[in-house]
Amino acid sequence: MYASDQPLTLHAALYRIAEETVSGSDLPTFYAAMHSIVAQLMFAANFYIALHDAQTNTLSFPYFVDENDPPPPPRPMVKGLTEYVLRTGQSHLVTPAVFRKLQEQGEVELVLTPAVDWLGVPLKVDDHVLGVLVVQSYHDAIHFSETDKELLTFVSRQIAIALTRKRTEAALRESEEKYRSLFEQAPIGIYRTSPRGRILDANPALIHMLGYDSFAQMALRDLETEGFAPPYSRTEFERLLQQTGILRGHEAIWQRRDGSSLIICENAHAIYGADGDVLYYEGTVEDISEQKQAQERLHILQRAIEQSPAAIMLSDTQGNVEYVNPKFTQATGYQPEEVIGRNPRLLKSGETAPAEYARLWQTISSGGEWRGEFHNRKKNGELFWEAASISAITDPTGRITHYLAVKEDITARKTMEAAERQQHALVEMLRHIAALINSTLDLNEVLDRILGNIGRVVPHDAAIIMLIEGDLARIVRSAGYADMGLTDEALQFPFVVSATRNLHTMLTSNRPLVIPDVTAYPGWIVTQAGHQARAFVGAPIRCRRGIIGFLSLESREPGFFNTTHAERLQALADQTGIAIDNAQLYERVRAHAAELEARVAGRTVELQAANAKLQELDHLKSQFVANVSHELRTPLANIKLYLQLLEKGRADKHTQYLATLNREASLLHRLIEELLDLSRFDLGQRSVALTPLDVNLLIQRLLSDRAALIADRGLTLQTRLTPDLPTIPADQAMMTQVLTNLLTNAMNYTPTGGVITLATQLRSNSEHDWLTFSVSDTGPGISPRDRMHIFDRFYRGDASRTAAASGTGLGLAICQEILRRHDGQITLESEPGRGSTFTVWLPLSLSRPHEV
Ligand code: ADP
Repeated sequence: MYASDQPLTLHAALYRIAEETVSGSDLPTFYAAMHSIVAQLMFAANFYIALHDAQTNTLSFPYFVDENDPPPPPRPMVKGLTEYVLRTGQSHLVTPAVFRKLQEQGEVELVLTPAVDWLGVPLKVDDHVLGVLVVQSYHDAIHFSETDKELLTFVSRQIAIALTRKRTEAALRESEEKYRSLFEQAPIGIYRTSPRGRILDANPALIHMLGYDSFAQMALRDLETEGFAPPYSRTEFERLLQQTGILRGHEAIWQRRDGSSLIICENAHAIYGADGDVLYYEGTVEDISEQKQAQERLHILQRAIEQSPAAIMLSDTQGNVEYVNPKFTQATGYQPEEVIGRNPRLLKSGETAPAEYARLWQTISSGGEWRGEFHNRKKNGELFWEAASISAITDPTGRITHYLAVKEDITARKTMEAAERQQHALVEMLRHIAALINSTLDLNEVLDRILGNIGRVVPHDAAIIMLIEGDLARIVRSAGYADMGLTDEALQFPFVVSATRNLHTMLTSNRPLVIPDVTAYPGWIVTQAGHQARAFVGAPIRCRRGIIGFLSLESREPGFFNTTHAERLQALADQTGIAIDNAQLYERVRAHAAELEARVAGRTVELQAANAKLQELDHLKSQFVANVSHELRTPLANIKLYLQLLEKGRADKHTQYLATLNREASLLHRLIEELLDLSRFDLGQRSVALTPLDVNLLIQRLLSDRAALIADRGLTLQTRLTPDLPTIPADQAMMTQVLTNLLTNAMNYTPTGGVITLATQLRSNSEHDWLTFSVSDTGPGISPRDRMHIFDRFYRGDASRTAAASGTGLGLAICQEILRRHDGQITLESEPGRGSTFTVWLPLSLSRPHEV
């Protein structure tokens, strides 16, 4: 229970109210103080203050002290006594009787515990009723008087004023509290500075932002000289601020306490005094360093994408293009505005299979990455190859927001790969052809194979292989000319290389030649009218010996051949050169071998003949040795016999024995002389000394020696010498020997009474002009059987066996040897019983140098 123990004077009460008003205490304290003051003036054990909220038309009870009831919650206006005071704006002392009367009038209803006395006064400032101050008594012994009512009414005016002020203060404080909190808690920096830059106030965010622990620490710093990183200056800030009095989104670089810098974004404005001078600046500061870095990173990323060497395309989930980088434009020819919002299928060339697109979409829509190649079409229609990597871009929740395609133009690579493949195939082809044409050594076969395979290396309409002979190039193979309007006859003519420009060019440059259009080529030789060739490519066939021919191709299409064709043709021509060279070499080797073979065969025949002759000579030698032994034995045996007879025989026969001995010794002598003669001929030891010989004279000299002897034998000598014969080259001694032998035989084998005739003559036959001399007799003649052998060594015929004089059988053989060495001959004409004629033929001149 609240009781007044120290009654207070009205004056003291007002003083205390005034004191509380300015005390700065809060509202609850203030209410309690008012209660205490009122309690010192009257019974105030039950005391409350009700305040009316005009906006919501509700009553609240910020202060409520009661013996019976708890503080009621705020409530809408009802028909209580409090509302009655509010309504009337008057003070009311309500006794139970008054209450009943008011109840009857319908002014009030019972709301809380009925009081014995209820005293309510309005809290009124000017004519505005803020609320109601109420004291009440539940005790029959305690009643309020009219004086109490007046006193409380009077005090309530002061309280109302004080309350108004307190509430304003409280509201202000609350508001300030609120902003202070904002200032303290704000995540952005807030400051206030003097116009000169001295920091008047800064919130914790700013203090922290700049690396200080407290405002005091920060205030020590002269931000004007230390707080900004160059090139920012305070002057600049002021200039901008003074222009408009306000600064928005101003970015600058500031320095923290530790010297590190931060990028800030600042809003500021000037606060002006009544005289228009700037009092101070207020501003907010935001650290945008991270934002800036992020922005910078973003910027770099953007630049990276824009400058990327790969084409980049960003599309939405439907596949519609949202972004393309400049490389995309460069690669496809499409400007961004031509593709943005559209589907990239406009690039389709139709060469990628629909199944591949389906796989692509399935891969990327399930978050995977698709890699592959497209054969796409540029804006200008040109086809190009690109390698693409396409993948989804997701937001933090994993939802796909975009698709990213990174593409690289690989046309050049593809082209190069294709060219490499082609080159490889060509090399293989050349290798194959080289193997083919080198697998034969037959030149014709080589040429056929080359002609049959050129088309696999260089396409053409007509082809020619020419081989060079001196300054002429002859067409040795050709194909396709019938369709080009060229007859076979036209292909027969050789070209004069030095006068045929294209051939001569290849010959001197040692290089292939392409003529795009022969009709524009000066010096092109038109072999035949109507020849349809327009383009030409040729290559010299080169080998170790130099250029041996040409491979030439023609086409009806101008410009058909290029340098690649020329290189290929040259490669083939080089293989051709090797193959032809090999074939020709083989041909020569074969010819050489054949010649050698022939020579060997010839030599073999010669050797065989020589061998046969050697064998014959060997045989002759053996026979000769046997004959000699036999021939020598006979006279020796006779000589031995007659020597014995001389010793022991009859004396009267000595003369006969001596004559026989003499004869046998002569024979032996002759035999040995003649054997030696023959042996010298055989060994080549007897040289022939040719001197001009007068045969008639030779005959006459010999006859003059022998005439007496002939006559002794009872023979008649006749000569028929042809006068004025020319001399002939002959060995005089040998010719004397020949003549002696023939004359001796005639004398020996012609019986007494016979006639011996010597004749000389000039004769001619188909071979030569001859000088002949002959010895004829009328003796027994020579049988045909003897005729075959009488020139053989040791052969003695019938005549010899019957004649008294024994011969050696060597005379005619020696004659024959002599005549052989004079290029002459000796012939015989004879008939048995009718004599013999031996004729010696000597050439009038020697046809060849005489062999010794
Ligand atoms: P030779 O007279 O020493 O026996 P030749 O060689 O001179 O040896 O003669 C060979 C042979 O030819 C003689 O044995 C003889 O039978 C025969 N003949 C040579 N001359 C005559 C001739 N005038 N008449 C007949 N026969 C001859």
